[in-house]
Amino acid sequence: MLNATLLAIAIQAPHSHEGCYHGLPTTYVERLVDEAWQKSDDVKIDEKRQKDLDRDVELGKEYSKQVDKELKASVDEAAIQRVQQIGSEMAAIANSFQPEVTWGDKRPAKFNYEFKLVQGKDVNAFSLPGGIIYVYEGLVKYTESDDELAGVLGHEISHAAFRHVWTLQRQSEKLSIGTLLAALAAIWSKSPDATNILRATQLGAQAIASGWSQDAERSSDFGGLQFMMKSRYDSTGSVTFMERLARDERASSSIDWGIYRTHPPSKERVQNLLGYMAKYHLPVRRSAVASSFRTIVKPGEDGMVEAWFNGKRLYTFAGSDAIKRADSAAKKLDSFFDQVPQMIEVTSGEGVVLFKHQTILQIAAEDAQAQKVSVQDLTEKATKAIKGSLFSLAYRVWGT
Ligand SMILES: [Zn+2]
Repeated sequence: MLNATLLAIAIQAPHSHEGCYHGLPTTYVERLVDEAWQKSDDVKIDEKRQKDLDRDVELGKEYSKQVDKELKASVDEAAIQRVQQIGSEMAAIANSFQPEVTWGDKRPAKFNYEFKLVQGKDVNAFSLPGGIIYVYEGLVKYTESDDELAGVLGHEISHAAFRHVWTLQRQSEKLSIGTLLAALAAIWSKSPDATNILRATQLGAQAIASGWSQDAERSSDFGGLQFMMKSRYDSTGSVTFMERLARDERASSSIDWGIYRTHPPSKERVQNLLGYMAKYHLPVRRSAVASSFRTIVKPGEDGMVEAWFNGKRLYTFAGSDAIKRADSAAKKLDSFFDQVPQMIEVTSGEGVVLFKHQTILQIAAEDAQAQKVSVQDLTEKATKAIKGSLFSLAYRVWGT
């Protein structure tokens, strides 16, 4: 329908300009009327869109009432604050620019996001239309840094902002909204013991199996990464979180994953995330965002200082400057491990462990003396330890 103003232009214009534009291919008035029509379409679209967005918010509120009955709110004040702080930061970023949307509403919506922490060990988070986002305590514990948590929240924000439930519903009208929500809710879970809302919906499995949720996941992974790039967090957080999920999926392959099985494998999602990181020239710094990828320096016996990586001791420093040398070695080792290099490129020289002919660890005579071994033996031992850690690192990152 034309509104009153547009109608007025359409009616009046020809009369007031009659005679001035005869024979011209595009007349002033025609153009005016065209533009008015165009505008009226925009107005219509915007009105419809606003209704859609309002509906998202209403739906979200409605569903959150149900969810709040099923899930207990966390009482862990520190964790609640952490989730809300990081969540609101990521939400502000999401509302501040137009990210690239690979799947969903190409005009991302802006919402007043709300972040709710709930009790439970599940490594899971899900988002309702309109921007109410639920995070399990188990997920917060699973993250190794704020960067990882920010990555998860950015992903969940993307589901709401890109209006995935609305998009899925448009594509598949037979499926109920409950089914769609169940499909999306399962995304982050590594545990088959999900909530009743998920279990209640057998159809969720079919919905997921049909494959469209994979598009939603990829799209949200990319959205989350774009928000991460604009934030103060390290985008690598999205990668390490997903890598850990992938590793744990492999480790518990005997579990019947049920509806989770048909989800895009975390490993594939990791590859996609790394692809985006490369595309935007973002350095992958696992050691910066995940403690399990960091060389830990800690006190050893007799005043010595030890360097550990992922639960294994790499080297022991002795002497008065042990801490200083250990700290500096840890930095070098971290940037070495961050590259997940090939084991074949690690060699040993005289009192040194080398990577591509560059020193990554200097073996000191006083270290060997304190451990009552020769420098050569200690060098070999250290090289072996570093190679061993590299092997388990490669498994964690790439799988087998
Ligand atoms: Zn998701």
